[in-house]
Amino acid sequence: MNGEPIRKIVIVGGGTAGWMAAAATSRIMGAFPGLTIELVESEAIGTVGVGEATIPQIISFNMMLGIDEAEFVRETRATYKLGIEFVDWLRIGHSYVHPFGSYGIDMLGIDFHHFWLRGQRAGLDMPLDEFSISAMAGKAGRFIHPRKDQPNSPLARMAYAFQFDAGRYARFLRNRAEAQGVIRTEGRITEVLQDGETGFVTGVRLEDGKIVEGDLFLDCSGFRSLLLGQTLGVGFTDWSKWLPCDRAIAVPCSLAGDNEPLTRSTAQPAGWQWRIPLQHRIGNGHVYSSAHMEDAEAEDILHAGLDGTPLAEPNRIRFTAGHRDRIWEKNVIALGLSGGFLEPLESTAIHLVQSGIARLMILFPSRAFNPKEIERFNRDTFADYLDIRDFLVLHYKATERDDSEFWRYCRNLPPPDGLADKLEMFRSSGRIIREHNELFTEASWLAVMVGQGVEPSGYHPAAALLDEDETRRRLSHIRQTVAHAVSQMPTQDEYLAGIGGA
Ligand code: FAD
Repeated sequence: MNGEPIRKIVIVGGGTAGWMAAAATSRIMGAFPGLTIELVESEAIGTVGVGEATIPQIISFNMMLGIDEAEFVRETRATYKLGIEFVDWLRIGHSYVHPFGSYGIDMLGIDFHHFWLRGQRAGLDMPLDEFSISAMAGKAGRFIHPRKDQPNSPLARMAYAFQFDAGRYARFLRNRAEAQGVIRTEGRITEVLQDGETGFVTGVRLEDGKIVEGDLFLDCSGFRSLLLGQTLGVGFTDWSKWLPCDRAIAVPCSLAGDNEPLTRSTAQPAGWQWRIPLQHRIGNGHVYSSAHMEDAEAEDILHAGLDGTPLAEPNRIRFTAGHRDRIWEKNVIALGLSGGFLEPLESTAIHLVQSGIARLMILFPSRAFNPKEIERFNRDTFADYLDIRDFLVLHYKATERDDSEFWRYCRNLPPPDGLADKLEMFRSSGRIIREHNELFTEASWLAVMVGQGVEPSGYHPAAALLDEDETRRRLSHIRQTVAHAVSQMPTQDEYLAGIGGA
């Protein structure tokens, strides 16, 4: 079904989502004759002001934009991120890393972790973290770029992302987008104009009376969901039963000593606290359930957990876990918080913006707005949300903690069906099932299942073909190879200094 081409894209909102969309669409489509991209934002309203930890997929987003990584790291005051350290999640005093990249090396064509499980069953005390180069480098405060050209080196199995200053990131993208032709209009939108017959959005009216018209509207207005939620009245699928945290309080603090290239998540009595070290400060926040904790207590906990001096007044944020019933409705597509939000436990929100943009590029509409393409977009986006939800719920469900009402609620909640299947399969055979091209890899599921104390009673039968001594010998060798590779790496601070950062 072909229609008239889209001639004008209007992006409503200039937070991370808006400027990511502006930078990407102008990079990919900016050279198309007759296509205009305009972004409207209001400095008076401002942005949510958080969102600093990412996952490795951001590397391909940056590459698509043609970003020079060293410049990006300098400009956004970024540090490298090799994974997330989860502290006190299984039980108080316990910690593990969910690293990026994979563990060990596959043997006999079978996933490495089955041999590790065999070793565990044979009584070998070798923590899983010690087979991940990213986990061990992260804990040691070291970093080097992965070496995909050395397939036999553990460095080939490393992966990384960034932790950056969200405000600087948006400015960085804005400069690129404007250089690529995006028009920026400052002003508060006071009215959204719709076609009387179809209900399609035709334009937005600003406080000063100016009207910005368009064919396709990207709603990047944050939690307000100005176009999709408020104007088109699209409802919200509420997942707070699964993910009861509904508040966050964030505060940056000064740096304290060297920083490891890891985000840290420390479980608290009614939620958890993030710690995201950047070059110039540490981002901190406490995510909690208001049904289980008062705001004042949450703030006290946050402040008690800071490593440095607070640098700003706390930023208080309310949210509900879930997503809009339709992310694309008529000629409006939500990107970012206007489409939904799942707590930042696995740093997935910026990635959802990225995957929304990629999906939009594949299904880019004409003015006929083919309903099949819209349906496809919505279905695939919901699948992303669902995968992430189940992965997040795993962290809360598989815990030994029962020291507060919150933890008792989480551990007693029956898991969603997809997660229940995964847990059952892993418990019985050590196998990790992924239904489709899910965001989280086998290694990620393994990290969190093992980290959260889920114990399989079996492993791949073929792993038993290696006898116990040979299994021990090979596991010890891999562990030593990882430790040696880490000892040869520069510290993150040395690495950053080498590219003009820190
Ligand atoms: P916003 O930043 O809120 O931007 C909204 C924009 O819309 C602003 O420019 C505003 O001015 C504009 N606007 C709104 N109304 C109007 C109007 N009437 N007229 C004109 N303009 C208007 N993501 C991660 O990937 N990693 C993380 O570690 C992470 N941590 C997070 C922690 C918390 C507590 C929260 C809440 C989110 C976190 N996120 C994280 C998510 C991340 O912050 C967001 O995905 C990202 O910043 C995108 O936000 P946004 O651009 O959708 O919204």
